[in-house]
Amino acid sequence: VVPAENLLGGEGRGFDMGQHRLAYGRLRHGMHNVAMAQRALDMATAHVTSRETFGKPLHERQAVQFMLAECATQLYISRLMLLHIAYKAEKGMDLRQENSIAKVYLAHMVHHVVDTAIQLHGALGYSQDTPLARWYTHIRSQRLVDGPDEVHRWTVGRNVIKAFQANGTTASAAGGDLL
Ligand SMILES: Cc1cc2nc3c(=O)[nH]c(=O)nc-3n(C[C@H](O)[C@H](O)[C@H](O)COP(=O)(O)OP(=O)(O)OC[C@H]3O[C@@H](n4cnc5c(N)ncnc54)[C@H](O)[C@@H]3O)c2cc1C
Repeated sequence: VVPAENLLGGEGRGFDMGQHRLAYGRLRHGMHNVAMAQRALDMATAHVTSRETFGKPLHERQAVQFMLAECATQLYISRLMLLHIAYKAEKGMDLRQENSIAKVYLAHMVHHVVDTAIQLHGALGYSQDTPLARWYTHIRSQRLVDGPDEVHRWTVGRNVIKAFQANGTTASAAGGDLL
């Protein structure tokens, strides 16, 4: 039995405290996802600049350049999302909506970038000779841990509706109040 004087946060406040911890946990997961995606994009780029197929280096093919561009775009969006949420955290502002949006987006982003890196490595990417295949399995959990996609989207969608009903615009639920 835990003595009453050892109660943390006050009676009935356990769920709120758990949610608070989870908010920062999601932010940390997001940072890991950006770091892993960045490493995967570096590996993909190193590979395509050294590999030649059908008489031409892979990096000279526009289809390959478009794949790298899409990954870079998603990484950039992810970095901005995290910076914005970190700013709100530092200022003690409510960051729950942005955090849910980013949690889902970054889980898909890292999945996409690692998947692209595997694709550009060909069979080598699927093998155990690079860490990519192991990462691919590991990051799949990101769409489940700290709440699955559907539960976050459920909350985000309800907040969009609430914002519209309260303000006649959904901007505050879509990162529109940036600071
Ligand atoms: C690697 C790993 C580490 C974990 N670490 C922790 C941890 O440290 N602490 C902790 O408490 N938990 C942890 N979890 C548990 C994780 O938070 C849960 O797995 C997650 O919240 C989903 O719950 P569930 O597995 O019970 O799936 P369920 O709740 O049974 O949901 C199954 C699926 O149904 C769908 N679904 C569920 N609810 C809805 C809804 N309302 N609307 C639409 N679709 C829905 C989703 O697709 C969901 O993936 C971890 C899980 C994994 C895989």
